[in-house]
Amino acid sequence: MTMTKLCFVTGGVLSGLGKGITTSAIGKLLQFRGFHVDVIKIDPYLNVDPGTLNPIEHGEVFITDEVWEFNPAPGFVYRIAEIDQDAGTYERFLDHPFHPSQNITSGQIYLSVIVHERVGKFLGRTIQIVPHITDEVKSRIRNIANKEDPDVLLIEIGGTVGDIEAMPFLEAIRQLRLELPKHDTCLVHVTLIPYLESVGQLKSKPTQHSVRTLQGMGLQPDIIVGRARESLSKEIKRKISLYCSVPEKAVISNPDLSPIYDLPPYFEQQNMGNYLCSLLQLSYDCKPAIDDWIEMVNLFKNAKRTINIAMPGKYTSIIDSYVSINAALQDAGAHLDAKVNINWIDTEAIEEDPDKIRVLDSCDGCLLTPGFGSRGVEGMIQTASYAIQKNIPYLGICFGAQLLTVAFARSIMGWKEAHTTEVDAETHVPVIDFLPEQKIIQEKGGTMRLGAHKIIIQEGTKLWDAYHQSVIHERFRHRYHIIEEYTGQMKEKGFITSAYDETGKIVNAIEINTHPFCVGVQFHPEYTSRPNRPNPLYFAFIKHALERSTIRMNANE
Ligand code: GLN
Repeated sequence: MTMTKLCFVTGGVLSGLGKGITTSAIGKLLQFRGFHVDVIKIDPYLNVDPGTLNPIEHGEVFITDEVWEFNPAPGFVYRIAEIDQDAGTYERFLDHPFHPSQNITSGQIYLSVIVHERVGKFLGRTIQIVPHITDEVKSRIRNIANKEDPDVLLIEIGGTVGDIEAMPFLEAIRQLRLELPKHDTCLVHVTLIPYLESVGQLKSKPTQHSVRTLQGMGLQPDIIVGRARESLSKEIKRKISLYCSVPEKAVISNPDLSPIYDLPPYFEQQNMGNYLCSLLQLSYDCKPAIDDWIEMVNLFKNAKRTINIAMPGKYTSIIDSYVSINAALQDAGAHLDAKVNINWIDTEAIEEDPDKIRVLDSCDGCLLTPGFGSRGVEGMIQTASYAIQKNIPYLGICFGAQLLTVAFARSIMGWKEAHTTEVDAETHVPVIDFLPEQKIIQEKGGTMRLGAHKIIIQEGTKLWDAYHQSVIHERFRHRYHIIEEYTGQMKEKGFITSAYDETGKIVNAIEINTHPFCVGVQFHPEYTSRPNRPNPLYFAFIKHALERSTIRMNANE
């Protein structure tokens, strides 16, 4: 093990508390003090990666720059670039690329141990959770610490303390804490402090129980972060301190904040950064460099204008399905003095009642979401056609770009049968079809075209105006692509290809040159947006939406 300090983050009471945001904010406190931090996310589910999970079940799948070849034993290779959405939060807060090997799942751990058993690594021995699974967890953590060599490695354990599937990970942490010197590790427990309406009080009992569960596994938290709708009073902090056996200064408030980027300064006010450094015996001789961050947070807080962006899609029932897109819209808005209101539109509802499409009239822009499969697709195509007709600023991301192509082919070219073969394999006008290499692929997990790739932008296009560069890198996740045989003919009516891949063969972006801003991209620009550095394409889109908003406001006056 290197000199890297380990800071574990566990969750109590229930999931969905924003542990990823807390972990990122802790990382930020350390960065303010000049430390190099990195993060591991542990997901106790048995999937090897979340790539095949439904966004409603799991939230967004985040795509990394790099594709990792997970090679549990000779002859077994799995490509991983689809990982947990928390990685997006880490990247946005810490502005540091997250490597896919840093999202460890139970699936990967068990797979490694089992294939090693098959090839004979443990001949003669019984394979057990302790020590074989826990050893594998510890070795993954150690390898990342050695390879990345950060001053502090934050390790977030997904789920809630007490979940059966997380037990081996908590046991591995217990062992690591025992093996390493006292000041080389610390444990932060993030828990819910519910507000009981009938008595008008925050209640600490569920936290006491979850800390007891941790203690029962041999783990004593050093810091307790209380998620509550408001900040914790001195009194409740005292109570948690007493019952959970941590000093009062180690009980930290984490109330609902907007923007979430306000959390590091909020922690800083409670002296959490200094306390953490004292626990880990990390010394530094500078004043925490927090000013730039606060200036950035103020852009989000003080934005004066408000614009409405329509987001038609099929996973609109949970906000987490498109978390990076939401963040990218807000990043761009903040730097243009605007708050972005997102108007979720369930496209199945449009299919049932076409009049519902009129909701787009009161929007300043329309972002058509990424996606898969056929549910809600006709409604998505209708929104794209409507945005084309009504000159509504439009940004189509991946599936959204493919469906823009279908919409144009049908409504402007008059090719009524045009479709993507993902939805209609028999269509006579397949404007979207498999990428050549995808035609023979059968397995679903990790087999799409993934990760960051080079994109060559054509000069004189809206895309070039946005990026001001001919060569960019953005992240991809797709099996299908836009077929040039058709776009060649669509050009006459203003539908142009604005970017290609490195080979010049795969269309990476399209736009309509007779429209104020109608752009579709095969890549996902949202993954590279940062709160202090919005993605150029989102920035251009929001700029056009603001122009439409001004025109709409003037017309209403
Ligand atoms: N389903 C489409 C494809 O595989 C689009 C994927 C996406 O939107 N990320 O190409």
